[in-house]
Amino acid sequence: MGSDTILEAVDITVRFGGVVALDAVSFRVATGAIHAIIGPNGAGKSTCFNAMTGVSPIASGQVRLDGERLDRLPGRRIVARGVARTFQNVVLPESLTVADALRVGRHHRTRAGLLATALGLPSARSERRADDAMVRDLAQLLGLADRLDDPASSLPLGLRKKAEIARALCAEPRLLLLDEPVAGLNDAESQELGDKIRECRERFGLTVLLVEHDMELVMRVSDHVTVLQSGCVIADDRPEGVQRDPAVISAYLGA
Ligand code: ADP
Ligand code: MG
Repeated sequence: MGSDTILEAVDITVRFGGVVALDAVSFRVATGAIHAIIGPNGAGKSTCFNAMTGVSPIASGQVRLDGERLDRLPGRRIVARGVARTFQNVVLPESLTVADALRVGRHHRTRAGLLATALGLPSARSERRADDAMVRDLAQLLGLADRLDDPASSLPLGLRKKAEIARALCAEPRLLLLDEPVAGLNDAESQELGDKIRECRERFGLTVLLVEHDMELVMRVSDHVTVLQSGCVIADDRPEGVQRDPAVISAYLGA
């Protein structure tokens, strides 16, 4: 595997009882790319994310990050390797403030530990300051700076989607997985969030794997697109190539 590949799925199969959600799916994600995974409902896109983040065990195949296997690691170890994700249905903890919800993204990085925090030791205090600075920076970047003290549950959908991305970025990932980041947003909000995703990629040197139904967004922001249908890869190409691929056209027209 070349050093230009950050993530590789090799023949991954995921079953739920008799349902084969992913059937020997293989693709590569280039370092620094925005790589979209598209396909009709039920194609296996979210399952693919779940297989890569330790949420759904795979029956066979491998997931490799920088050549090292991720597929047998628990989710928290995958986060520690530099992979963060958002979920299709926003899961910000409702009872927290926006700032606390973002801070949740840093938990795995906290070295001082609960005891040091409880005792107010200097190591815990300096970590807390670093966490606060990062939360403020990301809130600023994503337009949440004046909402940090509000309850997370009070945010309108557009801001909740941004807060969910900010929470994932708080983990300082190298690879960010976004599951339908613009679902439910209007055209202007989608366009703005697409620009933010690109800006985050540049700013943090991220690789982004994106599941999205909004084709306009996919074609505008992606460098590469993998198309799934019924758990199989039916196309894997640059956006221009995918757009005119007959198998993709027929999958979307239901032909
Ligand atoms: P997509 O995100 O592309 O819409 P999913 O990955 O959610 O598709 O689902 C792929 C297939 O796997 C579908 O047939 C779906 O019903 C099935 N599936 C997904 N998650 C589960 C689960 N937890 N239990 C049973 N079947 C599931
Ligand atoms: Mg899905």
